[in-house]
Amino acid sequence: MNILNQIQLLIPARLKYLLKPYYRVIFPNKLHLMLNPTFRCNYHCSYCYTHTIFDYSKVYSREQEHAAQEWIDALAKLPSAAIYIAGGEPMLFPGIADLINALPPQHQVTGMVTNLSLPLDAYRKIKRKLHLNLSLHREHVGETEFIAKVKQIKEFMDVTVNLVATPENLHFLEKIAGEMEAADIGLHVDPYINPATGVYEYNAHQLQLLKRYLQADRGSYRHNDYHPKQCSAGRNYAVIAPNGDVLACYGGLNYLNVPQYRQIAAGHSVDHFLIGNLFAADFKLNSADLICALPCKEHCDLDLARIWEVEK
Ligand code: SF4
Ligand code: SF4
Repeated sequence: MNILNQIQLLIPARLKYLLKPYYRVIFPNKLHLMLNPTFRCNYHCSYCYTHTIFDYSKVYSREQEHAAQEWIDALAKLPSAAIYIAGGEPMLFPGIADLINALPPQHQVTGMVTNLSLPLDAYRKIKRKLHLNLSLHREHVGETEFIAKVKQIKEFMDVTVNLVATPENLHFLEKIAGEMEAADIGLHVDPYINPATGVYEYNAHQLQLLKRYLQADRGSYRHNDYHPKQCSAGRNYAVIAPNGDVLACYGGLNYLNVPQYRQIAAGHSVDHFLIGNLFAADFKLNSADLICALPCKEHCDLDLARIWEVEK
């Protein structure tokens, strides 16, 4: 059994989640894939950058999505990979359990994000104990109902809870952190980015509240870094869209599609972000690092791609 499989099976969920940003250091040549089988979602969170502020389900529509068996066949062509399933709400993808249950044996699922809105029976169809990042969206579900469901799913899945620290949620952080602690469930807090300005906007008091809950891995955006960077994204890390397009990173997905990102990229090449389409007969990941002169904007990319400045 390889080391990543052992980590998945033997290490507690909370520790696995803390280890995630260091996977690229522990496994420098491991292929990490972020698989988005759908960008559709049954929620409409006001702070969501993939479904509300910008709607990726309009770029990659339901008609462009592939069936579970098509994904299984296409993923079989790739070398051993650690696959994280995201979206949208991945549980809305009709064949999600089939896809996970019959994943080609060289791959491991390192986790899946879900808003936990579907009945637990839908999750029970997944026949392996997954790490689930359960995202709590108080605009759509009460915390009491959500936490009760978290406790039930914890009986057959590894779980952590994720919360975006919107100004409204800040007042609630202490309460949910206490409840999660009592139930031995890890809590991950993401800072809220104001959609109008694209930056965090907390006053001193709010920052003080937030500091206790933010993880150290979440403070390293490279906002204005237009220096050419040598980057492993596209070689040992990639983001896969519902139509099979393989992008170097989530930043690249945004640079290619979102108007505000296109403005940031103005005058710079974005061609390196699209690696190809997984369903094309001649698809290959990059064999060497790429050079990118755009600012890294997404934490997942920073967690999993290896990036350093090109020597001048
Ligand atoms: S549940 Fe997740 S994907 Fe859906 S709208 Fe909310 S933040 Fe976006
Ligand atoms: S440097 Fe950042 S934005 Fe550029 S390809 Fe790498 S991860 Fe993506």
